[in-house]
Amino acid sequence: MAKVKYSGVRESKPGRINDFGSTGEQIAEKFKKGCLKRADRSFAQGLQCQQINSMAALMSLEDSVFISHSPQGCVGCSVMAVDMYRVGQIHRGAKQVKNARLFVTNIDQKSVVFGGESKLRETVKLAIDRYHPKLAFVYASCASGIIGDDIDAILNDMQSDYPETILVPIHCEGFKSKVCASGFDAAFLAINKYILKHQKVEKEKGLLNLFAPTTVSYADQKEMERMLQALGAKVNYIPFYSSLEKIKKIPAAEASTSICKVFADEFMQTLWEDYQIPFSHTVMPIGIRNTDQWYRGIAKVLGKEAEVEEIIKKEHARIEPLVAKLKERLQGKRVFVCGGTGRSFAAAALIDDFGMKLVGLETPTYDEDAQIDIEYLNEIHKDYVVDIANMQPFEQVNLLNKIKPDAFIGVPVWAAKLGIPTTHVLDGKRPTMGYDGLLYLGNKIADQLENPGFNKKIAKHVKLPYRESWYQEDAFKYITSNE
Ligand code: SF4
Repeated sequence: MAKVKYSGVRESKPGRINDFGSTGEQIAEKFKKGCLKRADRSFAQGLQCQQINSMAALMSLEDSVFISHSPQGCVGCSVMAVDMYRVGQIHRGAKQVKNARLFVTNIDQKSVVFGGESKLRETVKLAIDRYHPKLAFVYASCASGIIGDDIDAILNDMQSDYPETILVPIHCEGFKSKVCASGFDAAFLAINKYILKHQKVEKEKGLLNLFAPTTVSYADQKEMERMLQALGAKVNYIPFYSSLEKIKKIPAAEASTSICKVFADEFMQTLWEDYQIPFSHTVMPIGIRNTDQWYRGIAKVLGKEAEVEEIIKKEHARIEPLVAKLKERLQGKRVFVCGGTGRSFAAAALIDDFGMKLVGLETPTYDEDAQIDIEYLNEIHKDYVVDIANMQPFEQVNLLNKIKPDAFIGVPVWAAKLGIPTTHVLDGKRPTMGYDGLLYLGNKIADQLENPGFNKKIAKHVKLPYRESWYQEDAFKYITSNE
């Protein structure tokens, strides 16, 4: 029987769910018994679309243009990725900060009736004539998918007119997946098909692919590179702030790893199948335990197990006295953690370093990887709430109102408006990862707890859009069924 190739839709893997509300113990038990079924919400406040993840993953590539074949609204949240890209350039010493070369074909009612092909052709021509890029990425959207515009065929037809530019269609139609990380997979599948093309290249001794998403700060990049170079690796940091040349080097690597647990995990599996590149897929290196685990994982693939133990010993000796000081400031504080699947579980593990207590965890997806993390958390923490939700702030504010945590770690918008001290863990601007990131993050949490005035003032002047009665309701009342 022919081997089934991964489709890029995360739901296609059994056991992945993204609508659930319960406790850490219950979710682990249900998953173990195989009774955690895919559910839905009868009311939802919008989801993060996979298209933005496809865009954000590639937006900082040099000599590239990005064309969204969609209505204008689809590119609304690209401002977040553009902001990260601009700040990232400044951190990397750019004197002149560039904007991403982002185009939108502006599919409208007429295009829906008559097709959007002419708009796509015009936009691709305009983008290439203006910037002469090496790469032109074209992103599908719900609208282009529904009307059936064949972006692959259109770009294939146009390719001969633009031999200096590689045209890359990306199938990230929003309706295809409720798991926004599918957008990363769509981008990598397209890179493999249109850029790498299964070509065999000569291996480069010591070369290591380090996959990093947009939200990794420059400080974190340097910390990860420092740690990997200490193992003798030559790091190919991709696709963030990289180039066509660095992308083409991917198959030359001896091994791969990723900073985020849900970024490039599927692609690293593809690289193993297509180019026999071994990889390490463990955890996100946030906090002592996870950093050690992540480091040991890639050291094992590189055959540097003895070396890594030596380095870890030295790093522990350096940071443990400093972590002990932070513990004095943070011990016993009750924390609610919210973030992407990789980061939320990593942040929950991090709080153990500081002796904090987990009272709530919100994350977009649950699967067998998450089960490993939650089993570890269940050994330490009891009775914490778990909300598996892609966005859904109404559930979060309901839970926060009831639980009243001392601190909130994660995407802070809603918690800050409730006056809770917040620390951003999806911060692409400051350190979070590795041994140094841990110290920075710990100090940031402690400073927030000691200086909560800003969020308190926000809470005084901001009214959230929910009725008081909502806070008395069951936060998970709109989740239809997990039975
Ligand atoms: S692609 Fe679909 S889900 Fe994504 S922003 Fe556009 S309309 Fe919304």
